[in-house]
Amino acid sequence: MTRWMTDPRRIAFVATFLAVALIAGLVVVARMTSGSHAAFASPYRPNPRSAVTPEQGGQAQAAAPRGPMRAEPPTRQRAYDGPDGTQRVTGTPSMSLTFDDGPSQFTDEVLDQLSKHGIKATFCVIGSQVRSHAAQMRRIVAEGHTLCNHTWNHDFQLGDRTPEQIVKDMVRTNDAIHTVVPNAPVRYFRNPGGNFNHRTVSVAQNLGMVPLHWTIDSRDWESKDSKKICDLVEANASPGAVVLLHDGGGDRRETMKALKKLLPFLKDRFDLVAMP
Ligand SMILES: [Zn+2]
Repeated sequence: MTRWMTDPRRIAFVATFLAVALIAGLVVVARMTSGSHAAFASPYRPNPRSAVTPEQGGQAQAAAPRGPMRAEPPTRQRAYDGPDGTQRVTGTPSMSLTFDDGPSQFTDEVLDQLSKHGIKATFCVIGSQVRSHAAQMRRIVAEGHTLCNHTWNHDFQLGDRTPEQIVKDMVRTNDAIHTVVPNAPVRYFRNPGGNFNHRTVSVAQNLGMVPLHWTIDSRDWESKDSKKICDLVEANASPGAVVLLHDGGGDRRETMKALKKLLPFLKDRFDLVAMP
């Protein structure tokens, strides 16, 4: 052994240097990680209550089986096992695709693709967008899809409002829908970001709507890559799953591209239904 390596002062110096370098490295990595998360999170604000990502799907990714048709079909009893008493699976072996944040300029393309494969789906619409996209709303209903209330203006903080304000928001949204499609039932409510809490759940239920969560978040709201969207949904697809996709809320060209592969893939393996 050399004298350099046995000199206690040298050893102390080297050990201190290594410790400082390690801490500095950890700080840099932590900053990079939180920075990229903040970038991804935009424009969605995370739900501070549940510490899950907004419009999350981490749970589904972790728990769902690899590959289709390997899971036990969910039972009726499990249908409402989402957060705060929300429904997160269909309750039958059938799978449901849900499209959020429309109607928008992308809704017609979604409808065209669904129609091509004879698939029915559920549209979680934003009240303030209904009037300017009345034609798309009429198509949704005429083509056998179902509707879900997704608030008047995508209010992430709806659960923080007073019960009166929550009622007002949901009723205003349903009224806007019924101005355009008078007889279409709105049986579901979905909180923006999945930020359900006891207030939004109980108001929705009091207004006759089922609070609808999801099983699989396609994460198309953050992904700029249609292949990632496809891979994520295909890997987690299972009987009874409710899949979160978007036909509005931003540039959805990657979702449109993903659907071209995803719809035939799912149709070959699952029974796809609109939420009844
Ligand atoms: Zn949304």
